[in-house]
Amino acid sequence: MKTPNRSHAPFLRLLIIFSLSVATVYSQNTVIKAGHLFDSRTGKVLDNQLIVVSKDGRIVQVGPGLKPAAGDTVVDLSNSWVLPGLMDCHVHITANYPYRKYSGIAGIFATESTALRALRGAAVAKQLVEGGFTTIKDIGNDANYATADVIRSIRAGWSTGPTILYSGKIIAPYGGQSNSINPEHEGFWQMEYIDADTPDEIKKAVRKNIYNGANTIKMVTDDHPAYYGIEDIKAAVDEAKKAGMKVTVHAMGGEAARNVILGGAAAIEHGFQLDDELLRLMKERGTFLVGTDFSADNFYAYGGTLEASRANEAMVVDRLRRAYKIGTKMAFGTDIIIDLEGMNRLQSNLKVLQTWKKAEIPASYILQTMTIFAAELLGTEKYLGSLEPTFRADIVAVKADPTKDIDAVGGVHFVMKNGRIIRNDRLANP
Ligand SMILES: [Zn+2]
Repeated sequence: MKTPNRSHAPFLRLLIIFSLSVATVYSQNTVIKAGHLFDSRTGKVLDNQLIVVSKDGRIVQVGPGLKPAAGDTVVDLSNSWVLPGLMDCHVHITANYPYRKYSGIAGIFATESTALRALRGAAVAKQLVEGGFTTIKDIGNDANYATADVIRSIRAGWSTGPTILYSGKIIAPYGGQSNSINPEHEGFWQMEYIDADTPDEIKKAVRKNIYNGANTIKMVTDDHPAYYGIEDIKAAVDEAKKAGMKVTVHAMGGEAARNVILGGAAAIEHGFQLDDELLRLMKERGTFLVGTDFSADNFYAYGGTLEASRANEAMVVDRLRRAYKIGTKMAFGTDIIIDLEGMNRLQSNLKVLQTWKKAEIPASYILQTMTIFAAELLGTEKYLGSLEPTFRADIVAVKADPTKDIDAVGGVHFVMKNGRIIRNDRLANP
């Protein structure tokens, strides 16, 4: 190695000093002054807290009376309500159907490519994360694995989006959720579904989805009159478990839902017709309800009458009220595939909160279903869903107290994901 020329020595010294000072700056923390902090474990708001976030995106310390160290980057949210990043456990980011012209799931198979679906998915993913939803569970209806590419794009830094739990294609009895497809087009639905009619076929479908990027498994059972038996659900649960994954199942109620619960699935999606006995069985078995609690506006978007939409909403409000009273575990999920008039996906999703409000579920409990309870269902409860040391710094802030009125979550003005600030609006009236 050549000895550096003497005349370069002062320059090298300067370079070393400069490098050390850069290293010092990079090693410093981001400190958030939280005027009000939502403690998702208790459902209570704590005032004047400081959250210390390390440069690797972890929460190091939280508490009152802490002081930022010299050189820390300070984010002043002393006039805001600060919450763990929100979670939506039932989305379809790549799908959107025309308002009030829904013609069935297969309505877009022939007109939209997987590439187009992925582009839409990336746009919706950005909207959701900027609206405070830092984790979502995208469970199928994404053409030919479009969401897998959205996830790759986010990981590569080409686009911005939440952490995505992803199911791949929906595993279902023959025909998926298509109907009225003529026999000449048999298999048309395989764009988004895998026909699996025996425990062995179900296991193979689980493996296929995992191969294509899935990290959770979604089944649909009772859209077919010959719905899955307990052994069918169990086949999926056992196969998924080997890969450390959970199974979630679309079921409305009755015997099909009972089979889902007894088969050991982690959650029932929708469950609009669950009776008290099944809600109790879910409580006993620890099965989550992801209620996808459509408001009348969300039902109306499909094209039915206002009267029918209101009746459907009343059914959901009643089920939500009973599930809360019984103590069935719940995680927030929206399931919107039709944007409301003049609204984007985020706004259309948040419409479901009107149903939760009508069911008189306390706002702090709704927030728990969007944070700590959701994290438990998703299997991320050791690092997401709460603002506490060692947890990932997924942090959002809103302008009004969301434990008083849940609609405040529609006013997210700050989003940090993995310790990185991706949105920080200046408050108009701080
Ligand atoms: Zn859905």
